[in-house]
Amino acid sequence: MSVSDRVHDVVIIGSGPAGLTAALYTARAALEPLLIEGVIDGGPTGGQLTLTTDVENFPGFPDGIMGPELILQMRAQAERFGTRFVTEDVTSVDLAGPLKTLTTASGATITTRSLIVATGAKPRRLDVPGETELWGSGVSACATCDGFFFKDRHVVIVGGGDSAMEEAIFLTKFAAKVSVVHRRGELRASKIMQERAFKNDKIEFVWNAEIAEVRGADGQVSSVLMRDTTSGDTRDFPCEGLFLAIGHIPNTWLFDGVLDRDEEGYLLVDQPSTATNVPGVFACGDVMDQVYRQAITAAGTGCRAAIDAERFLAEHTAVAPQDPR
Ligand code: NAP
Repeated sequence: MSVSDRVHDVVIIGSGPAGLTAALYTARAALEPLLIEGVIDGGPTGGQLTLTTDVENFPGFPDGIMGPELILQMRAQAERFGTRFVTEDVTSVDLAGPLKTLTTASGATITTRSLIVATGAKPRRLDVPGETELWGSGVSACATCDGFFFKDRHVVIVGGGDSAMEEAIFLTKFAAKVSVVHRRGELRASKIMQERAFKNDKIEFVWNAEIAEVRGADGQVSSVLMRDTTSGDTRDFPCEGLFLAIGHIPNTWLFDGVLDRDEEGYLLVDQPSTATNVPGVFACGDVMDQVYRQAITAAGTGCRAAIDAERFLAEHTAVAPQDPR
């Protein structure tokens, strides 16, 4: 049977930890979810975890697990309970009325009574030469995930916001030295975070500077080409890691003008639930969370969205779902 031949109870867009957890819970509630695992805004199927290497902070894996393997296991678990998958991009949505309609890149239309949005966010990138080639080989956008691998190394972190300060401080637990490179002469971060960073002996600040290129040796970051934003002068700056903390971009363009967002573009939900402003549409994972952004927190909100969708269906349709727990 084609996915267009019936009205679904639950459709999930997004195949990271949030979407797959929502699928697991709704599948176990006998709601036969359909998960659309398209390439979202250029991101990979499976989300940001598929771009990481070792994941050592996901509970249940004492020896760590590779990010792509963790996603495969989550996917297999969701599939085991009956989740169906469609590997295609969603190109437009119509969320007006009780039945939501999604159109995919091949022109198929999918109709559902409830929708879980788990489209994630992507770290903002510098877009400089060498960044993509050395991604995962010294370039990272997640200090919490990768900081451990830089014991006694010298790392650079780019950005002047709270994330950059928090991650710089976190990195000093491992790194011998952390150079915060900021494009202006003053930080955007809150005063308290600034003071903490200024007090830390392992952190140095490089003001009015930007990264023009990431350079590697033997497939690992060996230096960055630093450009002074006032004079334009460039210099080679040796370092063994480059962390980006220049913000994230939530993947929300599909919902322009339909789902409410905060000023940073993240979907707004009616906390503590995951309900958006459109009845029957729920959001989970990094697309609605600009604070925690961890695989485990995304999975947690995916669980909440599944339970919210199940309750919504119980109230609005004749479906009598089972308890998923
Ligand atoms: P942010 O506040 O938007 O800061 C991004 C930083 O990156 C800014 O300093 C910006 O420079 C710089 N930047 C942006 N694009 C750049 C580029 N292409 N090249 C070089 N630098 C670039 O983002 P965030 O730090 O991720 O924080 C996001 C939100 O989460 C904020 O509201 C923050 O307060 C909150 N947060 C809070 C905490 C906490 O309270 N513990 C921790 C983390 C995040 P400019 O300053 O020149 O624009």
